[in-house]
This record gives sequence, C-alpha cells and structure tokens, in this order.
Amino acid sequence: MMDAEARYETMALNLKKLREVPGRVVVINELYPELPVDPAHWFAVRGDVHVQGQAVHRDRGIFLDLRIQATAVQPCSRCLTEVISALDWEEHLEFQPEESEGLLQREAFTYSLQDTELSLQPYIVGLIGSVLDPKPLCRPDCKGLCPVCGQDLNIRDCGCAVRHEGDPRLQVLKELLR
Ligand SMILES: [Zn+2]
Ligand SMILES: [Zn+2]
Repeated sequence: MMDAEARYETMALNLKKLREVPGRVVVINELYPELPVDPAHWFAVRGDVHVQGQAVHRDRGIFLDLRIQATAVQPCSRCLTEVISALDWEEHLEFQPEESEGLLQREAFTYSLQDTELSLQPYIVGLIGSVLDPKPLCRPDCKGLCPVCGQDLNIRDCGCAVRHEGDPRLQVLKELLR
C-alpha cells in the first residue's frame, strides 16, 4: 500500500525513460485519489481520477493520448447547490522542449530538456476545468436564490415575491430613458 501511495504523489512521467528509446510507447494507467484543486477554481474533484493511455517520445516532442475519468463538483450557477458531473473523455497532449526555437509552437505545451520527469497533475486539473460547463445548473428550470433575502426559491417562495418581477436597477434605467 505504501508503495502505491508514494507513486500517486509523484503523478509524473519519467522523461529519462521516455527519451531513452524514441518511438517506444509507454503505457499510462494511473489512479489519482483526492486530486487537489486550487480553491481559486470553481470546481472540486471528488473521488479518484483515472488516467489511462500512452506516451511516446518522437522528434524531441512528447505525445500523450489519454482517457480521463473523473467526478467533478461545482456550485449551481443560480442556487449554489452541488452539481455533480461524471466525466469520461479522451485528450491528446503534446509537449515540446522549451529550447526549440524557430519551431511553430502550435497547440503544444513545453517542457525543459533538463527535467527528468514531467508532472501531469496540473494539466489533468486544467483539462477537467476545460470540459466543465462554466455555468452549470442543478436542473434546467432552477429558480435560483432570491436576490433580496437569499432564500432558495426551489425550496419555497419567500415574501419578496413581488420584487422578483424586475431588477430595481433596470427600473431606474427605464425611468431615465423615458
Ligand atoms: Zn440550482
Ligand atoms: Zn426573498
């Protein structure tokens, strides 16, 4: 068990091994438990993240074909209730050495030729963020929170019902434009 946990922590590609034999396919099959996500992001990862696929070193570049399976949790964009998304998708990633000048950099990430390993963790976190809906809803007809008292209008209506009809700021604008 200890060995497995230690391996999870590194979450890194062994670049030395990859570069030894250009063209050799290295199989990736990793289970990352409790992937930490910076609180500045608007999502969290729940449970294991499973990353499967392969890596190959060719023409100084590192090419990865990955299948990523993860469960993400986000707040509903209207009522802040948890929205849980089961994700399962495929990604192709390309890393080119930082030192490669003059090359057209296309959609590639970079790595340093001095590095012996490449941590995939930040890329996995970034990819999860990129496939999530930036404005998720807990249900298509979510009524949201009352802007006056904060009541979750999916649970019950509040006494401020009259004021839900129009944003008071828009009302002011209407008066001005009259
Ligand atoms: Zn909602
Ligand atoms: Zn209210």
